[in-house]
Amino acid sequence: MIQIIDGNEVAGRIRSELETCLDTLERNGVVPGLATVLMSDDGASETYVSMKRRACDELGIESFHYDVDPGAPADVLLERLDELNSDSAINGVLVQLPLPDHVEEQRVLERLDPLKDVDGFHPENVGRLVTGTPRFKPCTPHGVQRLLAAADVDTEGKDVVVVGRSNIVGKPMANLLLQRSKLGNATVTVCHSRTNDLAEKTRGADVVVAAAGVPELIDGSMLTDGTTVIDVGVNRVEADTEKGYELVGDVEFESAKSRADAITPVPGGVGPLTITMLLYNTVKAASLQENVPVSLPE
Ligand code: NAD
Repeated sequence: MIQIIDGNEVAGRIRSELETCLDTLERNGVVPGLATVLMSDDGASETYVSMKRRACDELGIESFHYDVDPGAPADVLLERLDELNSDSAINGVLVQLPLPDHVEEQRVLERLDPLKDVDGFHPENVGRLVTGTPRFKPCTPHGVQRLLAAADVDTEGKDVVVVGRSNIVGKPMANLLLQRSKLGNATVTVCHSRTNDLAEKTRGADVVVAAAGVPELIDGSMLTDGTTVIDVGVNRVEADTEKGYELVGDVEFESAKSRADAITPVPGGVGPLTITMLLYNTVKAASLQENVPVSLPE
């Protein structure tokens, strides 16, 4: 029987456990604060930021939003980050990516206080992750680990193929799965745009994590029976709908479903976890900064 992994259900469970952490913080006079910074006119980026802010409101995390004119010099954004770094009401700062072409992304990520870097993209936090002492795990790959755990997939000793090598998803995903830890201990292969014969790699996998940003790149013919498939991709493709598009993943759901033992849908799979793990990191940031221990969901 195929298992469709319900991201909303898994996310809901983690969020209710986070409520207990928030109660503990509140009893100690702490309400976590998350700042979102948007330097873009892109509709999808605006939607992502408003979804993150809504999730904060629903859980009881205070959210603060800052727009930076996409045409402004990079220094305007950097000065805003300096202010947020020194604002004690703000425990976490999220700069929505992508940034305009004239703004160097790495400079921006390095300007953030690593203790407020709830995306986990600052080089200090990347280094901690790679060396096995993560502070803030990047939200999407951390969410994928939680989905695998919820679906009872033990990654220890398994062959996992990660499709995509971005700093946001593919690379941290591979690193997390490699860790000597409960949700790690996998043998990881990372595929990318220059990989020869992707199908040969995915057919040899116990678990496939697709994060290429290519609509329906992976179909059932590229999988072996019994594979677990996690689809990170969110791609807008033209469609005869009210909005003129629909969202599809990097996996062709119907044909993959006939081979997989468990699979995430798009939407409703990885997406809800990405936002939930951002809330998780913000709670963790507040706990670390205010020195109030909390029992974060394991
Ligand atoms: P990216 O464009 O930065 O990276 C894509 C990676 O895929 C690259 O490393 C590239 O080498 C690889 N790739 C591209 N074409 C390929 C091919 N034909 N075969 C093998 N590898 C190929 O994208 P990203 O930021 O890592 O995001 C990947 C996808 O995940 C996008 O669809 C994005 O929208 C989605 N995403 C979803 C969430 C979520 O919460 N669900 C979060 C982040 C990203």
